[in-house]
Amino acid sequence: MNNSFAELPPAFYTRLMPTPLPSPHFVAASGPAAALIGLDAADLARPDFVDVFTGNKVAARSQPLSAVYSGHQFGVWAGQLGDGRAITLGELATPNGPMELQLKGAGRTPYSRMGDGRAVLRSSIREFLCSEAMAALGIPTTRALMVTGSSQQVARETMESTAVVTRMAPTFVRFGSFEHWASRGKETELKTLADYVIRQFYPQFQDAANPYKELLAEVTRRTARMIAHWQAVGFMHGVMNTDNMSILGLTLDYGPFGFMEAFDAKHICNHTDQGGRYSYANQVPVGHWNCYALANALLPLIGEPEAAEEALDVYRPEFGRQLDTLLHAKLGLKETRDGDAALFDNMFTLLQDNHADFTLFFRRLGELKVDEPAADEPLRDLFIDRAAFDAWTGEYRARLRQEGSSDPARREAMHAANPKYILRNYLAQIAIEQAQNGDFSGVHKLLAVLERPFDEQPENESYAALPPDWAAHLEVSCSS
Ligand code: AMP
Ligand code: MG
Ligand code: MG
Repeated sequence: MNNSFAELPPAFYTRLMPTPLPSPHFVAASGPAAALIGLDAADLARPDFVDVFTGNKVAARSQPLSAVYSGHQFGVWAGQLGDGRAITLGELATPNGPMELQLKGAGRTPYSRMGDGRAVLRSSIREFLCSEAMAALGIPTTRALMVTGSSQQVARETMESTAVVTRMAPTFVRFGSFEHWASRGKETELKTLADYVIRQFYPQFQDAANPYKELLAEVTRRTARMIAHWQAVGFMHGVMNTDNMSILGLTLDYGPFGFMEAFDAKHICNHTDQGGRYSYANQVPVGHWNCYALANALLPLIGEPEAAEEALDVYRPEFGRQLDTLLHAKLGLKETRDGDAALFDNMFTLLQDNHADFTLFFRRLGELKVDEPAADEPLRDLFIDRAAFDAWTGEYRARLRQEGSSDPARREAMHAANPKYILRNYLAQIAIEQAQNGDFSGVHKLLAVLERPFDEQPENESYAALPPDWAAHLEVSCSS
């Protein structure tokens, strides 16, 4: 086991051991994530793996560490944060490059501030399921290998049992890792970190005239693309602070996230975010704002403000291109034509006015038959304003005729672009409550469903259903 990050000077991290937890037990493991590092998920239930991935036993060649970073939280400079409960064990070589393994909830660190260094079972299961669901949806994300639980309880709104989620990513360096050094005027460390990231993850820029400008432009492009994917699937991160923005453009740090159900562009998934800074619609400008914060941090290395601005300017066009591509796929359109932007706008207006379920809408739209409006009934049922629905589907049908779209081919293509199964809050909640009572089968089952989000799974039809009435009162906050 290597740890390239541990070869950086000690100022970047603190070496420390995880704090063991009492009576650790297996909760769940991801087969696809395990395969990435050459493991079999079934083996991870063994006591030796449970010990390692709870932090109770540390492999001899591991050099555990917690990294320092700072960041802007809700738009306000927060100063030093850092891995307050995450401990990186090291990195494993894989056919796709190195993969860092990190235990989240492994005990206090020098960056814990007032926190207890622990994560609760509830939020660990949420992070685990959503990481793997996002990966299956084809969205750039950190991965989750497994969750273990413990008999130890910690105080949140109530007493809750603790857990550890093992996360994996090529690196967990964030925008805030750069802001940390820039805010202190530490240019040497800033350059060391940027050079490390370029050497390890962006070697194509090593010989560029201005590697730091290229780094900023590429991170900006990746961030824009990631957020276009979020918008297209209705994912809301909930806490897009700069310390939660990956330098690789991966969805990072799953907390009070949510998937859009009844469509509302202003929807706020994080109960703590009263101002709606991280609402669905705001994710797009906030992504840009975060890149701007990264640009500010990198400015001493980039040199000219104009160069940094040029790099940042790629955000809008890259986002626009990616979203346009995704929307064409979601609507089963093979060609690009004048008027497509208006068709998309009108669709979002229709969804907004009717608060139609985002996932069911696109999935049922795939069943539309160009010449059989009578067959629209299940789709039409999602709308209150039937006249508006008929008007938009009329527009859409005309557009499909223009490119000679075939119903069966389009259905197949659309079902590969529009998931049937997403991690609805109520599904997570049911699995979590079972797990809190010691039954993890609901987590396993939900994971299996979410690993195949685009497949028809007739035996699992209920997992695609609208939320029940009780789910309207579910609130998700930063408490984790
Ligand atoms: P987040 O909002 O999850 O990105 O967390 C923001 C900061 O708070 C990060 O530095 C976390 O490591 C830290 N943090 C959150 N919860 C805890 C906890 N229970 N113990 C220690 N640090 C925590
Ligand atoms: Mg965080
Ligand atoms: Mg968090």
